[in-house]
Amino acid sequence: MPSSHTVTLRPAADTELANVEFTFGSSFPRPRERTIRQGYGFEIELPAVLDLLTAIDDGVLKAGDVKDLLQRVVGAMYEPADCWRYEDDEDKLAWCRRDGTCRTCDRHRSAFASSLAEAAERWRRWTLPEQYPYAAGNSKGLHEVGCPVLRRDMPQEFNPPAADDAEALRSFAHRKDAYDRSPRDLMPLSYHIPFVVMTTEETRAWMERNTGPRGGRYYHRCERCAPAP
Ligand SMILES: [Zn+2]
Ligand SMILES: [Zn+2]
Repeated sequence: MPSSHTVTLRPAADTELANVEFTFGSSFPRPRERTIRQGYGFEIELPAVLDLLTAIDDGVLKAGDVKDLLQRVVGAMYEPADCWRYEDDEDKLAWCRRDGTCRTCDRHRSAFASSLAEAAERWRRWTLPEQYPYAAGNSKGLHEVGCPVLRRDMPQEFNPPAADDAEALRSFAHRKDAYDRSPRDLMPLSYHIPFVVMTTEETRAWMERNTGPRGGRYYHRCERCAPAP
């Protein structure tokens, strides 16, 4: 989302331009492409530019000082404008590896932890078929846990990364944040358990939740194992 910012510029001790309007993210002019930290994606209102040029003409300011000032303003706006989101996915990954972590990783840290906890709980239940005899997949197919259709899609073993594994978090987070294709060179994450494993009680409640007011079913019962909780 483009954002607007208002900054009071003080290019010299006795010169002040109050409430100068900047925007970020509304245009990225190709012919002058550069890094965001060098001002790419930022715009400044024209009257302020003209006043700055007039001050240079009058000898009140030096062009170099104005340039330095604008670069500093860009630096100060990087956070509030959430410029990180606009950075290139491959760049973000490279900077993350260089620095050990990044904003993308911070943003997804708790989702990563929950995904690990959820997978561990699903796996725990999977190993206790007597207590948890039914399972449902993402497209709402209901099975008995012994069903071959389901067993085919379940992993053979469960080897989740440690919750503090930085490379695993990186892989999770940078995949989630990627615009289109996730960056190359991320470690594969294979701890996802594709089925929710449930007790008989929970399965009945699940069926009820997935049944419409007129009795229409939003789930399908597997033909192969014909579950009847
Ligand atoms: Zn990161
Ligand atoms: Zn089945």
